[in-house]
Amino acid sequence: MKIISNPFELKEQLKGQKGSVGFVPTMGALHEGHLELIKNAKRENDFVVVSIFVNPTQFLEGEDLDKYPRRDEADKIICELAGVDILFFPSAQDIYANDEVKLEAPNVRGYILEGFTRPGHFSGVLTVVLKLLNIVSPAKAYFGKKDAQQLHLITLMVKQLFMSVEIVAVDTVRDKDGLAQSSRNVYLTPSQREAALKIPTALYSGAKLVSQGVVSVDEIRSKMLHLLSPLKVGYVAIVNRDFEPIKQIEIGNTIILIEALSGETRLLDNIWL
Ligand code: AMP
Repeated sequence: MKIISNPFELKEQLKGQKGSVGFVPTMGALHEGHLELIKNAKRENDFVVVSIFVNPTQFLEGEDLDKYPRRDEADKIICELAGVDILFFPSAQDIYANDEVKLEAPNVRGYILEGFTRPGHFSGVLTVVLKLLNIVSPAKAYFGKKDAQQLHLITLMVKQLFMSVEIVAVDTVRDKDGLAQSSRNVYLTPSQREAALKIPTALYSGAKLVSQGVVSVDEIRSKMLHLLSPLKVGYVAIVNRDFEPIKQIEIGNTIILIEALSGETRLLDNIWL
């Protein structure tokens, strides 16, 4: 496995590359969720590039940029063992200039839910993903359904900017107890982790109600909110796949999303119905 930090060097390296390139962008502290993306990329491409970049522009003032978990050496070994061909490991200076062209997330879908709690977050996400996709020029890029709104906005960006890459959505990987894997789970104490299990429990209960024939979004939301107590809930949202609010569940076109705090740790999870 080659490790490259300079974007121009990576572009040069990939220029003569034969076969299809699959790309998995990450912020590191790799877990099984990331590995699932890498596995999909390996299966569907001749050559796999993974990036590790804790993108400063997607963190708001006062957020956890400085304490975001970094496990560079372990991540390198994980990528090597997973059969990654190139690990792209740029610094902020490699990616950003002083006076930058700005990319803005869409006014509505970029500023609801996560975008409401973290205004401007998705502008940072879209900017870095656009830059990374331009550097790597992959045939396919892999993103987790775990970050459903991010996945939606990236898919929208690719369509609206007439980009050629195919965005592949990968199912959420969970621990045995149901908690969605996340780099931020390391922040949780054992009791906070226990409390966090209310999140998948509420999602599964929502899905169960749907399977029993309940279609009212209000009814499902209020039952889920009850199950999440006493967690501090940012939102329980039920939207269609275009992230528009809905009144009734439509099977095949619905996502139920939760943002909740366990201790100080903000956790995201969702279920696609
Ligand atoms: P991150 O390093 O948190 O920015 O995540 C990098 C990519 O991994 C994103 O596309 C995430 O949606 C995806 N991802 C994170 N957690 C999971 C998970 N538990 N299962 C599947 N994909 C995930």
